[in-house]
Amino acid sequence: MTDQVNDRTFKPLYLKDSDVQCCDNNRVTDFMLMERVTEVIGNALHCLQLDRNLWRIYVKSQDSRDKLLVEGISIQNISVTLFDTNPYSSGNHDPTVKTLKIRLCGLPLSVDESAVVELMDKLGVKPKSKILYEKIRHPVTHKMTSVLNGNRFMYIEPLENGKTLPRVNYCAGVRCLLFHYGQPKIERKLICTQCWENGHTRNNCNNEPRCKVCKSEGHKPGDPKCKSYQPQENVIAFNGENNVLSNFFLCDLNIFGVQHKSAEHAFQYTKALRCGDQESAKQIQQSETALSAKRIGDKIKTNDQWIESSQSLMTEIIENKCAQVQQFREKLRSVKKNTVFAESTFNDQWGTGLDKVGTENTKRSEWPGQNSLGQIIGKVAQKMRKRKKATNGVNPSKIQGNKRNKA
Ligand SMILES: [Zn+2]
Ligand SMILES: [Zn+2]
Repeated sequence: MTDQVNDRTFKPLYLKDSDVQCCDNNRVTDFMLMERVTEVIGNALHCLQLDRNLWRIYVKSQDSRDKLLVEGISIQNISVTLFDTNPYSSGNHDPTVKTLKIRLCGLPLSVDESAVVELMDKLGVKPKSKILYEKIRHPVTHKMTSVLNGNRFMYIEPLENGKTLPRVNYCAGVRCLLFHYGQPKIERKLICTQCWENGHTRNNCNNEPRCKVCKSEGHKPGDPKCKSYQPQENVIAFNGENNVLSNFFLCDLNIFGVQHKSAEHAFQYTKALRCGDQESAKQIQQSETALSAKRIGDKIKTNDQWIESSQSLMTEIIENKCAQVQQFREKLRSVKKNTVFAESTFNDQWGTGLDKVGTENTKRSEWPGQNSLGQIIGKVAQKMRKRKKATNGVNPSKIQGNKRNKA
């Protein structure tokens, strides 16, 4: 909270001290370096720091960082190019030669480095650095803490023209995600919600309406005429703010120390913060309904980190809802062991992709959506049953005492 630098730090630029020191009797000092950098970017310089043979140059905006990277500086009549990445960790000794940073996410920390090396081999990439480990950053200031977040990264030789690496990989048998600059974004295909063909929308569709499940004309999902029609037992289809299982259900929920009006509010709010959109976060928190919170959240420009962390965030929110909202907890407790929770909404990621009738009367394996929310709720309910079972084995009088103490 010391200055006006909107408290956000940008990645530093690097300079090898040995590249600027040419004569021993006139050593380049931080003050001299400051003057030279200021000539290029004015007062956008934030900090100059020398650590052994490496200068770190912190600036106040992305624009000035880009400018400095392109123009370099001249000091004691030498033109120097700055390094975009730390030359000692990226294995890059010539600033004009670019390296490519790749990030590996979703792999347990316990997986051996040799498995990562094997994966790199298989992908045919040429590592320029050793395997490095990311640290947790403050969600707002982006400053680094000393704790690892489990993600690995490394620098490799740039890929041949147009070549990119696949996003989903398997390392030591574990599914993990690989990210790098220039990788194609996951594209949302244009899908018509009338005939379910790609490439056009409902508004300019010339086809007859078709069933989302079997793609035949003349009926809707859940109709006995559908090839995948099958009344489902043990499925609880839920949606909407009146159902306690739904994220739209209004309830007091404290997530990461912030108070929210529903699980949807908490989810969209955290999404906004993690994607650096503080204005939307504020609006979401003030939204009266979960639907309006979702509408604001849907407009947020998301990033790769968000894509990889949304599932675990949702799990965390549902676990907290179970701990904090009695009505939700009781609902989970009341269902049978083999119950399948199904969010019956048209959302193909979190829901079944079908309405309530469609969900309840379509073979589970044919639901067009992933039903991720339903699966998460199922896991939380299962955990709770296990805990209950475990405590039931203990002397009941002891539990009573414990419960009273906790309350
Ligand atoms: Zn169509
Ligand atoms: Zn059908």
